[in-house]
Amino acid sequence: MTRKIAILGATGSIGKSTLDLIESDPERFEVVAVTAGTNAEALADIVRRTGARLAVIADESRRRDLEELLVGSNCRADAGQAALVEAAGGESDLVIAAIVGCAGLPPVMAAVEAGKTVALANKEALVTAGELMTRSAQANGSTLLPIDSEHNAIFQCLAGARVEHVLRIILTASGGPFRTASAELIASATPAQAVAHPNWTMGAKISVDSATMMNKGLELIEAHYLFGLPSGRIDVLIHPQSVVHSLVEFVDGSVLAQLGSPDMRIPIAYALAWPERISTPAKRLDLAGVGHLDFESPDLSRFPALRLAREALEAGGAAPIVLNAANEVAVASFLAGKLSFPGIAQLVEATLGRCDFAPPASIRDVLEIDRETRLRVGELTAEACQ
Ligand code: NAD
Ligand code: MG
Repeated sequence: MTRKIAILGATGSIGKSTLDLIESDPERFEVVAVTAGTNAEALADIVRRTGARLAVIADESRRRDLEELLVGSNCRADAGQAALVEAAGGESDLVIAAIVGCAGLPPVMAAVEAGKTVALANKEALVTAGELMTRSAQANGSTLLPIDSEHNAIFQCLAGARVEHVLRIILTASGGPFRTASAELIASATPAQAVAHPNWTMGAKISVDSATMMNKGLELIEAHYLFGLPSGRIDVLIHPQSVVHSLVEFVDGSVLAQLGSPDMRIPIAYALAWPERISTPAKRLDLAGVGHLDFESPDLSRFPALRLAREALEAGGAAPIVLNAANEVAVASFLAGKLSFPGIAQLVEATLGRCDFAPPASIRDVLEIDRETRLRVGELTAEACQ
C-alpha cells in the first residue's frame, strides 16, 4: 500500500533528503502536502516533481506568487500559520516534521493531536514543548519517530528492550568544526567557518548549533523527552568520525550502538518505512576504510552551551523554552555578523538569568514564553550596545 506523506519544511536540508528517498520509490510513497517558509519557487518546483495536492508557504506575503506558480496544476496553494497547521493535521499517513526552530511547534502539535505518525527532525519543537507533546502523543495515539541521527540510533537500539533494563544512553557528537580549536581561535570564528561542518551538510542554524555544541545540548533535552530518562542517565561523548550514531548501555554491562555512514538519508529512511526497512543510496559503511573510531569527553569550558542546556534540562519548567528562544535569536545575530561566536552562549546565559517564567500549561503558554524571551534578548542586546 502507498504511504501518504506530508513534508513540513520540504525545501530544507532534511526536506530534500526525504524527497530524494521518496522519489526513488514512487510505488511505496506518495507526497500529498508540502510546506516551506518563504521560497515559493522551490516549493512550486517540488509540487511539480511530486504531484502534491496541497502546498503551503508560511510567509503570507508570498501567497500570490505561490498561487501564480501553481496555476494549471492540481495543487491547492495556501499561506500562513493556520494553513501550516491544517497541512500538518490533514490527509497523510506520515508527517515529516522538518521545519527549523520553534516556528515548527504549532504544526507538529497539530499532527500529534490528529494522532499521526510523526517523523521528527524539528528538535526545537520537542525541546520547547516536550512534556505537552509526549503527553498529547500518548492521549491521541500518535507515534513519534526520531529522525535526528542520535535519537534514531537510540530508538533502533531500544527496539524490544525493557525500560528497566536501560542504565543510560550515550549521545555521540562530532565535536563540530572547532573541536580541536583553541579558545582564542573560537573567539574569532566567522559564520563561514562555523557552518563548515566536517561530516554533515545541514541547514545554517543547526550547523552553527553544532559548532557551539548547543545542538548536542538541545539533543540532550530531546532525548530526555523521547526516552523518559533523567539528565543523569544521558551522557555525551565526542566521536569525531560520526560513524557510531549513539549508544545504549544496559544494566548487565552490554552496550548496543547503531553505526552507519554520516548520511541523514539513513535515519530518514528508517522513519519513512518504519517498521519496515528500505534500501538507500547512502554510502555503505566501510570500517576497514575508516580505520579507527575515536572517542573523548566534551570540553565544557570551550563549549559552554552544552553546560547551559544541561542546566536548563535540570531546571525544567520554562527554562528549555528560554534556552531555545535565546539561542535562535543569538544564532541569527551571529549569522548576520552582529554577534561574536562566543557571544551566542553568553547571550543565552544572560537571558536565562533574566527570565523566570512559570512552567507552561499549554502550547499557547509555550509560544508566549518564546515571544517574551525574544523581547528580553532584544533588551539585553540593546543594553550591551549602550
Ligand atoms: P533548513 O534551514 O535547511 O530547512 C528548514 C525548513 O524549514 C525549510 O523548508 C524552510 O523553508 C522552513 N522554515 C524555516 N523557517 C520557517 C518558518 N518560520 N515557518 C515555516 N517554515 C519555515 O534546516 P534543516 O537543516 O533541514 O533542519 C530542519 C530541522 O531538522 C531542524 O530542527 C534541525 O535541527 C533538524 N535536523 C536537521 C539535520 C540535518 O542534517 N539537516 C539533522 C538532524 C536534525
Ligand atoms: Mg543530531
